Amino acid sequence: MPTYDYRCLKCSEKFSKFVSLKEKDQVKCPKCDGDTQQLFTGFLYKKTGGGDNSTQSSSCSKNSCSGCKGC
Ligand SMILES: [Zn+2]
Repeated sequence: MPTYDYRCLKCSEKFSKFVSLKEKDQVKCPKCDGDTQQLFTGFLYKKTGGGDNSTQSSSCSKNSCSGCKGC
């Protein structure tokens, strides 16, 4: 199931939450009930493009792969 990452705009608390599409813009901070900003997981794409071959899931064919859950 998809979860969305959020950061609180008031206390900077980071948390992940599973929400439906219509609710994902209305998530409140679990600590202070403040407004939150959705964090997009763009860093995953930066990692694969940075020359770190161990994170390339598409080319994984080794049984010893520890970074790929598809093995
Ligand atoms: Zn907060």
